[in-house]
Amino acid sequence: MTFANMGTWMERAACRDADPELFFPIGATPAPGPLRAAQRICGRCAVRLECLNYALETGQSAGVWGGTTEEERRAMRVEALHAARA
Ligand code: SF4
Repeated sequence: MTFANMGTWMERAACRDADPELFFPIGATPAPGPLRAAQRICGRCAVRLECLNYALETGQSAGVWGGTTEEERRAMRVEALHAARA
């Protein structure tokens, strides 16, 4: 994923017209309801993989990207670090 083609996949995002607060909830401990609603939208998104790759490659720590929560992406990064060291 590069910044050059980022606009292309974002134009096809299922969340384009969704409430941003579902994906970027306010508060230290987001309620599970909005997060699950966001993940349901991601579940029918044609560019989910591109979105997740972008989030991982650019270190997006906040919000739902590619159907993953902040904690899930953090765990993925830790797992990737351990795999790289093995
Ligand atoms: S995967 Fe989710 S957050 Fe990413 S573009 Fe699709 S709907 Fe939006």
